[in-house]
Amino acid sequence: MKPFYIYNTLNRKKEEFKPVAEGHVGVYVCGPTVYGDPHLGHARSAITFDVLTRYLRHLDYKVRYVRNITDVGHLENDADSGDDKIAKKARLEQLEPMEVAQYYTNRYHDFMRVLNVLPPSIEPHASGHILEQIEMIKTIIEHGFAYVENGSVYFDVEKYNQSHVYGKLSGRVLDEMQNNTRALDGQGDKHNPYDFALWKKASPEHIMRWPSPWSDGFPGWHLECSAMSTKYLGETFDIHGGGMDLLFPHHECEIAQSVAAQGHEAARYWMHNNMITNNGQKMGKSLGNFITLEEMFTGSHKLLAQAYTPMTVRFFMLQAHYRSTLDFSNEAMQAAEKVLKRILDAVHLLDKLTPSPVSSREAEINEIVAKCYEAMSDDLNTALAIAHLQEAVRMINSANDKKDTLTATDIDTLKKLFSGILFDAMGIADEQQQGGNTELLDGVIRMVLDVRNEAKTKKDFATSDKIRDELVKLGIVVKDTKEGSTWSL
Ligand code: ZN
Repeated sequence: MKPFYIYNTLNRKKEEFKPVAEGHVGVYVCGPTVYGDPHLGHARSAITFDVLTRYLRHLDYKVRYVRNITDVGHLENDADSGDDKIAKKARLEQLEPMEVAQYYTNRYHDFMRVLNVLPPSIEPHASGHILEQIEMIKTIIEHGFAYVENGSVYFDVEKYNQSHVYGKLSGRVLDEMQNNTRALDGQGDKHNPYDFALWKKASPEHIMRWPSPWSDGFPGWHLECSAMSTKYLGETFDIHGGGMDLLFPHHECEIAQSVAAQGHEAARYWMHNNMITNNGQKMGKSLGNFITLEEMFTGSHKLLAQAYTPMTVRFFMLQAHYRSTLDFSNEAMQAAEKVLKRILDAVHLLDKLTPSPVSSREAEINEIVAKCYEAMSDDLNTALAIAHLQEAVRMINSANDKKDTLTATDIDTLKKLFSGILFDAMGIADEQQQGGNTELLDGVIRMVLDVRNEAKTKKDFATSDKIRDELVKLGIVVKDTKEGSTWSL
C-alpha cells in the first residue's frame, strides 16, 4: 500500500498514517446539527472527509466511515445553557423537534448527493444513542471525573487536569482558561465555568427529554460523539475529523470524556478542515453574507452574480488545501468554473485523439501521474494535484493541435489518471456527461416551463406549482426572473 501522510492536529505535525488494523481505517466525523439549511461550511467539511475516505479507498484501504447527525443536546452558542437549537426552531415553526431534525437531515442528504459526497458507512443519530450515553456518564462518574448537581451531571475539568492534560488538542492551558473565564451568569450548578455538561436536567418546558438515573433530561452535546464513535469504531480508532470550529470545546471535551471513561484516548489522528470566508469576511447569518447551498445552486442570494453548479462548488473547494482558509468570491468561483471546464474538455478529447506510434511525452506523463499521487498522499494536497492535472490538460490540448504525439498507451495512462484522481478520489462528476445530451434536456425542460407559464397566465397556480415541485424532485431548480424562467441541475 502506498504511504499516506496526514497532518495530526494532536501533535501539530505531519505523520505517516499507520492504521490500528492493517488495511482497515475507521473514520469518525462530526456531522451537522440539523436545524438549518446546509450552507457552504457544511459542504467544505463533508467534501474534505469525502475526499479523505475516497482516496483511502482508492489506495485499497477498507474504510468504515461514521458521520453522525446531531438531533439533540446542541444548545445555543455551543453553551451548556440556553435553548436546544432544534427545539427552538421547532417552537418557532410550530413543529415537532424531530420533524425539524428529519426535514433538515433530508435536505442535507439531498445537497450532499448533488455534490457527489458519498453517504457514510454508518450515520448514527444522537437521539438514537441515549442509552449508550447514559452508560458512558455512569462510567465517568465511577472513575471520579464527574459530579452530580441538582439532577445534572458535569465533567470535572480540574480533577481531570490533575492526572491528564485538558487542552492538549487546542493548545489551551487551563490556568489561562481559569484567568480568562469569569464566573458567568447562568453557570448555575457548575463548580467551575469550564466544566461541561454530560447530562442536563430538563426544565419543565423542554420537550426533548429522556429518563436517567439523575433526572429526566438530555445528554450534553459533546458526549454523543464519544459514545457513538466507541460503539461503531471501538475504543481506539484511526481518524477523527471535523471543522476547525469544533476543535474547542467540542473535540477537546471528546478527548477528556474518552480518557475519563476508558483510561486512554480514542482517536489516533485528529483532522480539521479550515473555514470559508466571504470576500475576506467571516460568514455569519447576522452579517448577511451567509450563503446556503440552495442559494449557490440557484443564484438566489444578493451576493451571487450567477448560479453555480454543485461541481463548480466542489472543484472550487478542492482548489485550496483543506487546512487553508478558503475565500469565496464570484471571481474565484467563475475562475474555478472555467478551469474545471477546461479539464473536462481535455478529458473528453482523450476519446477523440488519434494515437501515434511514437510518443513525444511518455516520461513526462509518468512523472505527472507520480506527482499527482504524491500530492494526494501528502495530507490530501488537492490544490497541488489539480495543478499537476492541468499540466496533463496542456499536453492533451497540444496533442490535439498536432504539436505533440501520444501513443495509445499514453492516452490510456492519462485516462486512468483522470478517472483515478479527478473522478474517483476527488469525487468530481462529469456534469456534461451526466446531463447526457444537454441540448435535448434543455429543450424538454423549456417545453415543460412553457406549459407552466401558460398555467400561470391562466392563474392555474395548482398546476404551475405542481410542475415546479416535480422538477425539484428530479433535481431541477427553476428560477423565475423578469426575463423569463431559467433552470439548473
Ligand atoms: Zn462531534
